[in-house]
Amino acid sequence: MRVIIVGCGIGGATAALALQKAGIEHVVLEQAAELKEVGAGLQLSPNAVRVLEWVGLSDELAKIGAVPQAHLFIDGLSGETLLQTPLMPKVRDFFGAPYYHAHRAELLDILTGATTERQLRLNAEVTSISQNADGVRVTLADGSEEHGDVLIGADGVHSVVREQVFKPDPPRNTGCAAWRGLVPPDVARDLGFERNAYAYMAPHRCAVLYYVSGGEMFNWVGIGPHSENARESWSQRGSNDAALAEYAGWLPQVRDIIAETENLFMTSMRDREPLEKWADGRIALLGDAAHAMLPYHAQGAGQSIEDAWVLARCIEMGASDIPAALLKYQNLRIERANKVQMQSRQAEHMFQMSDADEIAQRNARFAKHQDSAPDGFPIGQRWLYSYDAEKAVTGTDEEWQALSW
Ligand SMILES: Cc1cc2nc3c(=O)[nH]c(=O)nc-3n(C[C@H](O)[C@H](O)[C@H](O)COP(=O)(O)OP(=O)(O)OC[C@H]3O[C@@H](n4cnc5c(N)ncnc54)[C@H](O)[C@@H]3O)c2cc1C
Repeated sequence: MRVIIVGCGIGGATAALALQKAGIEHVVLEQAAELKEVGAGLQLSPNAVRVLEWVGLSDELAKIGAVPQAHLFIDGLSGETLLQTPLMPKVRDFFGAPYYHAHRAELLDILTGATTERQLRLNAEVTSISQNADGVRVTLADGSEEHGDVLIGADGVHSVVREQVFKPDPPRNTGCAAWRGLVPPDVARDLGFERNAYAYMAPHRCAVLYYVSGGEMFNWVGIGPHSENARESWSQRGSNDAALAEYAGWLPQVRDIIAETENLFMTSMRDREPLEKWADGRIALLGDAAHAMLPYHAQGAGQSIEDAWVLARCIEMGASDIPAALLKYQNLRIERANKVQMQSRQAEHMFQMSDADEIAQRNARFAKHQDSAPDGFPIGQRWLYSYDAEKAVTGTDEEWQALSW
């Protein structure tokens, strides 16, 4: 059995580790000449962290991760805290795995740290894909070919596997951009930022800030309508002055972080419509290729990590009938991931609403939750965080299934 994974992002790299754990031969084909993620943070919730721990990354994660104490939702103009919900250590006690903030490049480093040259081909852009009853074949931009028994399309938001094998999926533009960057931790500390996840909200825009790199860097991302031209790209640079103009009137703490950012990036915020299928014969999609979503619930990478575990285990358990194994994977995963995709789309409004009555109603809901939730976790968080990918595979995940969001 040989599995070809197209794309070495967080989803593809996790799938490789899960296959490795199952003793299944695989190769990852990555178009980039070197593995690098452009500076940005990731919130990693326990549903994803437990998978990363199963593939052997507990110690490394604890080194690179920053450990937030709470999630603070704050009015971006007045500074009033609207809602505070617990993170660590309560998340670990309640959901059985920690919550971390990580730098993407560092996460990718630990995911690929033990990879051999045979398992990862860089400079390997896949241009065409085909399959028959016996196997799969991909052609690369340099004309070479790879053959295998299974193909996993983990090639991100612009997936060539999705385009060629499934459905061309045009982006849905939200009209918003995400600005993002990193500043040294002393800048953040001097501005009063503690070890928390800060989510600021004001009419039309929001900003999320937290420490990464074991606390050695401070990450921020701001999302809202933009007047600069933004592409769906991780490497497009933005201007500090233009970003500051978008955040005019905001709290000085947030503006100072923007001003102090040395390398500011911007990305156009788009998502996709949910797909009806992710498996076709010997080919399956995972991660953003299957369900590119907006970042309001910080779950895109998390869902790709859940996918990776379930897919690797379905291949391991169903090796004698690959099409059936991939179909099982799809059926186990698609409803959940598509729901997260849609909830993330809906959450945009909560973060950016501008109507005064609506804002008052949202804040009243926050206050009610603050006063009444017994454990402090909103229902959506419980639904997301209590998912156990192994229990899903073995059909023993009634606990999560019983929750609704
Ligand atoms: C502003 C912002 C903030 C976010 N914050 C969070 C967060 O806090 N938590 C979270 O869980 N998620 C977050 N996300 C979402 C998360 O970044 C993505 O969901 C995640 O990176 C998807 O991983 P992936 O492996 O599916 O795709 P990618 O990371 O995009 O990887 C795809 C890989 O495939 C390669 N590739 C593409 N085409 C080819 C080809 N033809 N041949 C070979 N290789 C190819 C690419 O070079 C790339 O390396 C955020 C997203 C944004 C935009």
